[in-house]
Amino acid sequence: MMVAVVRLLMADPDTYPTQRPMGAFRNDELGVEEPPSSAVTRMPWIDIHQHGHTMSWGDRERFDLSGCEAAVFVAAAAHYAPYRPMRPEDVRFLWDDAIRRSHAIGRSHFFDPYLAIGIHTTGPKVDYEDLFDVLPEYAALDEVVALGETGISMTQYSEPMAIEDQEAVVREQMRVADDQDLPILLHTPSVTKSEPDKWLTGKTEEGHDLADPVLDPATAKLDATKMDVALADEVGLAHEQVVLDHAHPSMAEFVMEQTDCYLAFSIGQWIRTTTVEDVSAVIEEYGPERVILDTDVAGMYQTQPFAMKRAILDLVRSGVEEEDVRKVVYENPKEVLGLE
Ligand SMILES: [Zn+2]
Repeated sequence: MMVAVVRLLMADPDTYPTQRPMGAFRNDELGVEEPPSSAVTRMPWIDIHQHGHTMSWGDRERFDLSGCEAAVFVAAAAHYAPYRPMRPEDVRFLWDDAIRRSHAIGRSHFFDPYLAIGIHTTGPKVDYEDLFDVLPEYAALDEVVALGETGISMTQYSEPMAIEDQEAVVREQMRVADDQDLPILLHTPSVTKSEPDKWLTGKTEEGHDLADPVLDPATAKLDATKMDVALADEVGLAHEQVVLDHAHPSMAEFVMEQTDCYLAFSIGQWIRTTTVEDVSAVIEEYGPERVILDTDVAGMYQTQPFAMKRAILDLVRSGVEEEDVRKVVYENPKEVLGLE
């Protein structure tokens, strides 16, 4: 394969037996030193944050088709939550349903399904302390590789969740992560795609009613990130086990310069404004060592099952080294999840 590429680059167009002129399409005339490697089409990826158990069989087949080695189904999200504060049994329904589905999915797909179990803060919770008693047992299951998603949220479905209550559930999940040496996935507040300057609040583009924000929308992204890191420090959870997710350029400087946490960009949903340019800019400035790419794809949103594969190709096209792309879509997720 390499021989053919070198020949093509060095070929003298005058020696081609073609009737049409070849010159304008020669790589050397176009300034292409090395064409993209076909190995990129076979790059494996591990999606550290997604909700594949809520998607269709056909969507998950697209993970298989595009090189997915493993995916973490986040069982915590309030997507199917009732539009009222959630009781402990509502949360456990989400956990139990994801566990059951992951077993069936593992039998009919090629990628390995894993789970993240958590108490999310995008839906208010009542009697959440009851969940603290059983959370360690769930976290100890073989298929559970992370806590979360959780983290301080700006706004909630149905009713606000007070900051003190949010801190209590995040703190407890960090304790379990620390005890069981697991990573924790921390959701950070969302921005809208149609109006990128506005933080997601009020009605979402799909008409969900969101309660009044409990943080200042103008600074919520960074404020929540700092509160999450402060809680990890309070608990004594190692930064290497903390994944600050749904990254936005406005968080990058703080996370990369003042913490040792991972910064994870979510690229598969309309709700996120992340672009490949954002990701490549952060890799260029800080290196790939603590950067992760995930999709956050889920069945209830306009979502892109090929998001990861497309991002891999686009990152290479944008000039990011192949080995750096592999680090953020494969090596780093594998390491933080302990899938070695
Ligand atoms: Zn999610």
